[in-house]
Amino acid sequence: MIDFNAPYSLLIDGQLVDTAARLDVINPATGSVFAHCPAAGGTELDAAVAAARRAFPAWKALGFAERAACIARFAAALEANQESLARLLTQEQGKPLGQSRDEIARAASLSVGITKIGIEPEVILDNAERFIELRYLPLGVAGIITPWNAPVNLAAGPLTSALYTGNCAIIKPSPFTPLTTLRIGEILREVLPAGVVNVLAGGDELGALLTAHPGIDKISFTGSVATGKKVMASSAGTLKRVTLELGGNDAAIVLEDVDVADVAKKLFFAATVNSGQVCMAVKRIYAHEKIYDALCAALAIEAGKAKLGDGLDPGTTLGPIQNRRQYERVCELAADARQHGVFNEGQPRPEGGGYYVAPAVVTGLAESDRLVNEEQFGPVFPVLKFRDVEDAIARANNTRFGLAGSVWSKDVARAQTIAGRLEVGTAWVNQHRATMANVPFGGAKESGIGRTYSRLGLEAYLEPQVISVLKT
Ligand code: NAD
Repeated sequence: MIDFNAPYSLLIDGQLVDTAARLDVINPATGSVFAHCPAAGGTELDAAVAAARRAFPAWKALGFAERAACIARFAAALEANQESLARLLTQEQGKPLGQSRDEIARAASLSVGITKIGIEPEVILDNAERFIELRYLPLGVAGIITPWNAPVNLAAGPLTSALYTGNCAIIKPSPFTPLTTLRIGEILREVLPAGVVNVLAGGDELGALLTAHPGIDKISFTGSVATGKKVMASSAGTLKRVTLELGGNDAAIVLEDVDVADVAKKLFFAATVNSGQVCMAVKRIYAHEKIYDALCAALAIEAGKAKLGDGLDPGTTLGPIQNRRQYERVCELAADARQHGVFNEGQPRPEGGGYYVAPAVVTGLAESDRLVNEEQFGPVFPVLKFRDVEDAIARANNTRFGLAGSVWSKDVARAQTIAGRLEVGTAWVNQHRATMANVPFGGAKESGIGRTYSRLGLEAYLEPQVISVLKT
């Protein structure tokens, strides 16, 4: 078990490392600093890259089964430490404790799920003259850069994909939420050979150093579109492979035949889980005019039921926004929406210094309003009216984002056809936000490049190699 009272450390070459430089970590429920941790710079990064490169040949030489066994031990240790990790995650990230527990459990089950995917060599030709085989080799060292909204989950997928395919890794969490990832580094230290995984907390500049480092072969980046573009540009210097999981502005199209009360509950949750700070949250709802008023009223009832508060308090269903910068951005978009539309707000925000934003259902906005065409990443969302479903599809697609979307109807076949016309990486029917280890997830358009999970996701950590033999 991990000592959650011990000071926080980086993990480099199997050693717990301190630095003179520190990061202050704020609890968003109070707005005050509650912990400090080391902050890595170029020296620590060089040491981590050197350690990962040293560990690579032996790790690569292990088979998939042996690496899967290490990942199973990691998943079991996550589960054994679930409660302490979840409490820490809520303190630094803000989400309700139940959602933090789910995040740890999901990281464990996804990690194991990824190791159930087979990567076999393929014999393309084998006859009297020739033998041609396609096989897959690990790339080397993967740099994994994560955001602050789901730091455990968004590290676990890329990390276990990299490890299972024979790569070593360096994880850099967001400076807003480094602590749970550092504790997970301590867990990894117990289950993996030294150097196979290194964990470096640090600021944005550490992320930039990672993407430019010549000893790193692959970048898995999860974060905003703007930073994703910088990551791609910087990675081009050494032609690193990149997987980019970026932002979204997911539309949910609700047809006229739905059970309004049932769909309102599901949509409200999909729009406000983790206070809306989810890449694939529902961010715009297009409702048919026949059910528009009823759906808006049912969503407003859900907003009224939401209990805003410290994620550690039992009964809290909506925590604070994770950091001041994002809080100010959500407040700015909400203020803009207030000017142009009608606000149906839930309970007022709690007293104190926390970054609380009350959930709100906003009606009467136009497509050109900021809350509709920007990613709000907060619990305030627009509901827009349509008469003709062709118009709803066109409006849903009229964006540079393309992460996901959903269609809601009792007529599943019709909904499935409409879903197929959404310009997104994932189009759901009668659900939103469902992902699995064996199903690819990722963005179309500016929502990303590549996929995580599934065989497609694993191939992003592998170099295809052809062995072509002329038999003499
Ligand atoms: P961000 O882009 O500000 O930061 C993400 C990470 O990148 C942090 O670790 C940060 O330190 C690092 N970073 C910052 N500048 C960098 C640079 N120049 N080079 C390399 N790394 C750098 O994103 P955020 O605000 O932490 O996260 C919110 C965004 O993430 C939202 O847009 C959300 O939709 C997106 N997101 C996407 C997915 C997905 O799977 N598609 C999942 C979660 C979040």
